[in-house]
Amino acid sequence: MKSRVWEMLSWFLGYSELRRLKIFINNEWHKATKGKTFAVINPSTGEEICQVEEGTKADVDKAVEAARNAFKTNSEWRKMEPAARGVLMRQFATLLRRDVDYLAKLETLNNGKPLEDSKGDIAISADCIDYYAGWVDKIAGETLPSAPDTFLYTRHEPIGVCGQIIPWNYPILMMAWKFGPALACGNTIVLKPAEETPLTALYCGSLIKEAGFPPGVVNIVPGDGPECGHSIVVHEGIDKVAFTGSVEVGRKVQEVAGNSNLKRVSLELGGKSPLIVCEDADIDYAAELAHRAIFANAAQSCCAGSRTFVHEKIYDKFISKSVELATKRVVGDPFDTKTQQGPQINNSQFKKIMNYIESGKKQGAKLECGGERVGKNGFFIQPTVFSNVKDDMEIATDEIFGPVMSIFKFHDYDEVLKRANETTFGLAAGVITKDVTRAFKFVNELLAGSVWVNDYDAITNQSPFGGYKQSGHGRELGSYGLREYYEVKTVAIKLV
Ligand code: NAD
Repeated sequence: MKSRVWEMLSWFLGYSELRRLKIFINNEWHKATKGKTFAVINPSTGEEICQVEEGTKADVDKAVEAARNAFKTNSEWRKMEPAARGVLMRQFATLLRRDVDYLAKLETLNNGKPLEDSKGDIAISADCIDYYAGWVDKIAGETLPSAPDTFLYTRHEPIGVCGQIIPWNYPILMMAWKFGPALACGNTIVLKPAEETPLTALYCGSLIKEAGFPPGVVNIVPGDGPECGHSIVVHEGIDKVAFTGSVEVGRKVQEVAGNSNLKRVSLELGGKSPLIVCEDADIDYAAELAHRAIFANAAQSCCAGSRTFVHEKIYDKFISKSVELATKRVVGDPFDTKTQQGPQINNSQFKKIMNYIESGKKQGAKLECGGERVGKNGFFIQPTVFSNVKDDMEIATDEIFGPVMSIFKFHDYDEVLKRANETTFGLAAGVITKDVTRAFKFVNELLAGSVWVNDYDAITNQSPFGGYKQSGHGRELGSYGLREYYEVKTVAIKLV
């Protein structure tokens, strides 16, 4: 694998324009005010890819000033007709598609996901931007019934400057989910990519400029959470913050936003999503679906199906099939076309996951397969399957964010419904059954923002996505995603 990585490194350092590793403000590339840089690591090797300028409070201040200027009443952006905003967005989507090969390699180098998965993420990111470009001239208020001498109506107005803080698991896709609705509604943006994975977002800065967006509409400030992220959340010049990441940080974001200018907050946090396999399920189909539900993206997915509940009548057969699939899963170099699972993002996630595997063993779950590191370099972990998992074990309650499938046995439908809902999370849930009545009972009673029947991760640009309970609030995607990015102004005009 080493030679391949070196080939990639020299390709990246040789061909990328270094200015793209700086801070993107006002359509220009800036050095960090404090003159510091941080290392970006290749998770396949643990080696440094490059240094990136580290944004701190002063850089966030600069970015907010640029975004505020771009949002002024008479700015080019604010005077633009909605349809013209849509043209810019479509152009950005076209550029994402034009550069898909470059962007996919960059994403795979930086995040470690298999190259085909990166290409898929970029394709759906472009589709997401196009989807929201279609909304720009349809974000309408309402004319309301009123007294005959009064004209009563609502206007949907952009909120203003939006801070957007995103994680490392789907770097470019999370950016697209945030840019799409914000730009469609006419806001301006200060984006902070995760410190682990800033490379594709920075490259997109150059595409934003090339697409023709006016300076200051999109600003990208790479940096860490406590300094750079916090400076966004606490900033009085920011009107809304959208955050995707851990519950722990989400809680802080809400608190800091509340204690500053009470900016609007939307949160997309973690999950511990149940997938319920009923006795009438086709076992091969169910095992394949459950396998993908947990292991996709090396299980670094907020809606991963991380609690697999299986009816006792098919439990043993389901386990054999799941073990067969996990053992066959190809883990390794994400640039190899045969690879299905790359590394975990970094050493701290790697260690955290290995500790959970130890805890599962100690607390009495049965390790059916996996549980070991793969190779000596990078942060690869074998697809791991535990059976006999009990509801109070750590692997049953905590978000592991790693390739660990936990299989639980159930015997009764009311029982499994109660157990599935007994979590502080509520992001997603899945049910596999041929019984339509039972399916609807689950749909109605599962406490989750998305419920998928005979499917999993059925996410499209039209489908709102977000959490119940501590999985967050607000929705991304679909028309519901737009509501997080406009204010409703009520206008009453008395005809005197
Ligand atoms: P995190 O919540 O620490 O980081 C997410 C983003 O928030 C990053 O951009 C980070 O720089 C920023 N951030 C961190 N501290 C901040 C602060 N005080 N103020 C403002 N921004 C801040 O997540 P992580 O450390 O990258 O991952 C830890 C856990 O988070 C994972 O194990 C997983 O459970 C969860 N996670 C969830 C998602 C998701 O999609 N819901 C994605 C990534 C991680």
